[in-house]
Amino acid sequence: IDPADERLTARRSRFLLDGLKEVEADCRQVHIPLLVFAEPVEQGVPVFIEKHRIGALVTDMAPLRSDRAARQQIGRRIDIPSFEVDAHNIVPARFVSDKQEYAAYTIRPKINAILDEFLTEFPPVVKQETSPPSGLPANDWSRLSRTLAGDQTVAPVDWARGGTLAGLAMLEDFIENRLAGYHDGRNDPTRAQQSDLSPWLNFGFLSAQRAALAVQRVDRDVKSQEAFLEEMIVRRELSDNFCLYNDAYDSFTGFPEWAQQSLKEHQQDPREYLYSLQEFEAGETHDDLWNAAQWEMVYRGKMHGYLRMYWAKKILEWTATPEDALRIANYLNDRYELDGCDPNGYTGTAWSIGGVHDRPWFEREIFGKIRFMSYNGCKRKFDIDTYVTTIRDFQAGALS
Ligand code: FAD
Repeated sequence: IDPADERLTARRSRFLLDGLKEVEADCRQVHIPLLVFAEPVEQGVPVFIEKHRIGALVTDMAPLRSDRAARQQIGRRIDIPSFEVDAHNIVPARFVSDKQEYAAYTIRPKINAILDEFLTEFPPVVKQETSPPSGLPANDWSRLSRTLAGDQTVAPVDWARGGTLAGLAMLEDFIENRLAGYHDGRNDPTRAQQSDLSPWLNFGFLSAQRAALAVQRVDRDVKSQEAFLEEMIVRRELSDNFCLYNDAYDSFTGFPEWAQQSLKEHQQDPREYLYSLQEFEAGETHDDLWNAAQWEMVYRGKMHGYLRMYWAKKILEWTATPEDALRIANYLNDRYELDGCDPNGYTGTAWSIGGVHDRPWFEREIFGKIRFMSYNGCKRKFDIDTYVTTIRDFQAGALS
């Protein structure tokens, strides 16, 4: 973990280190050492390999540019066999497709055709016969906590603790209490219907495969089961596909041609409201729904999924350029969301602001042909006042 990573906040750091401590203890039971270093991976790994005469390197597939670059840099500095596995996805991303997919409808049949081959039980982790090599350093957790303290202005949250145990408990709670009704309730921010699993999926404490297997076993409310598996398999793998094959996944130039063209044509449209990053960050717009969604992200560390679309689209409406909008949305998302810095986040903002994986809609001001969302549209879908009041109460609790 790179202590100089500017996206490292106290919130992310606490979640990650709490979880890694638990992984260390689990691994110890089966004689596998887990070592955590506070340095950039591309520097630390080659040195470690040489010092401890490591025989092979296995890395996980990670589609974001920084991770791909680190892996390449490591590859240039080592001369042992190295392998990449894809534990991030159920069907490995490079296996599903070798190019950027157009939309969910093009990737879905490719995934479904081979899903059964990959959505299988995990082999057990066996206790290693040999002990770990001697001379390995021990993790000094209090020192790591200090070195990796991260930006203290983004506080840890109480409701989500890092680690597999807490992730599995959330999965169980979802299956027991929220899966029934997920298909029509997940888009209503006043109903607790989402799984809330994204923080654990994001940090790898829970795998999509483990969650999919558990949900697949449930034999009630098939519609909800299918809706959940569509989000967690098809949509999630589509995000990895976008980031893996489009190097400009967080730029205007990563948007489809029609969207770039249309947004450019509307670049000069007058904006009724224009807000700075600071105003957005503080949740100081004229729109009570938008502000509440922003506070949910700032104080709870996880904004409701339906509102993320509205939130990002309004940033497009209230900034001077789509480039500014995308930069601000990604900055806030990565900084405050416990599931931020994730392919789903970059794909979600690119979908909302740049029409990625979407189609052209009726042309209108500022948005051009990008799909529009309105306050009144939300009002027809759910009770805005209830949502805003709930978030205000949550915020008051967090600040007291
Ligand atoms: P559930 O509805 O319970 O879904 C379960 C899992 O399915 C999620 O954890 C996620 O892995 C996957 N999933 C659900 N919706 C999507 C989707 N639209 N695209 C891809 N995968 C999906 N998701 C993140 O994980 N991290 C982010 O930083 C992030 N930022 C987003 C920003 C914007 C602007 C938008 C529009 C979407 C974003 N999403 C992000 C996608 C989605 O909103 C979240 O995955 C979801 O709200 C997480 O909550 P949950 O686990 O309770 O969701």
